Amino acid sequence: MIEKMCLLTNDVETTSIWLNDLRDATGLKVYREGMPILLDIYKKHNIKSTFYFTGYIARLVPDIVKMIIKDGHEVASHGKSHLKENGFDVMSFERQKRHLAETKKLLEDISGQEVISFRSPALRVNEDTGRALIETGHKIDSSVASQRFDFFMSFGGMKKLKWLTAPRLPYHTSPDSLFTKGDGPLIEVPLSALFLPYVGTTMRIFPWITNIQRHGIHLESSKINGKPVVFDIHPNEFIDESDEPRKINKRSKNPVAYLLQDVIRSQLKTKNLGKDAIPLYEKEIMFYKNRGYQFSTVQEYCRKSGLL
Ligand SMILES: [Zn+2]
Repeated sequence: MIEKMCLLTNDVETTSIWLNDLRDATGLKVYREGMPILLDIYKKHNIKSTFYFTGYIARLVPDIVKMIIKDGHEVASHGKSHLKENGFDVMSFERQKRHLAETKKLLEDISGQEVISFRSPALRVNEDTGRALIETGHKIDSSVASQRFDFFMSFGGMKKLKWLTAPRLPYHTSPDSLFTKGDGPLIEVPLSALFLPYVGTTMRIFPWITNIQRHGIHLESSKINGKPVVFDIHPNEFIDESDEPRKINKRSKNPVAYLLQDVIRSQLKTKNLGKDAIPLYEKEIMFYKNRGYQFSTVQEYCRKSGLL
């Protein structure tokens, strides 16, 4: 039986959670403040993890990619940018391939590492994404959150209902769907979820829910099927921008959706941002460390488990 594995993954982008917008100023703050905090935590606990960079932030500040290399972390792709129109569920096959190829080359040029892992921005994908990934030399996707249920809470919620039927253990995908098993060359390493996403956002907003999730996820991993724990966090959760005034952007026309998606969501999503997120994250890490989990990059996990 494979040892208990914990894959900590980080999405690095210019999203300001406080201002609900993409900003270069936030990207620089992520580089100067958020990334050093995360890298210190990993160094302290002797952990190797995977960083998914958008091409946009890599171009804005290439050192943000370089800074992870000496500690042995994996450089991975988070697509070209988090702009809504660059979502992989709305782009044509050709455009998806262009974005993937461009970002892969950029990250490889900066880092000198081969980039084979991908996670789509906001986990938005469509039936073409698997083929686009394969044709551009990617080998591992991690955009599927098996059994996660978002509904109104994230963009493209209805399409994400496919998550409910996706396999839980890592698998080779079928050519036409990342959500189903097949004999294609692409590996899917699903994000952990227990109804709600098992991510930094849940950890910050509802620590008591994460407390329950963590026990369920550990039970599955250690007693039921050996599924690796896959946690998703963002260095922008460790920065504090609350000195900047904000108004809530209205993204939804429907008043109920506006209340749910924009107002409540913005209020909630900013809880425990900045330094307050550090002890919460370390508590998460210690839980697995104390139970003998091995921490590794996504790529290393795939090699060790024989998937790659
Ligand atoms: Zn992202």
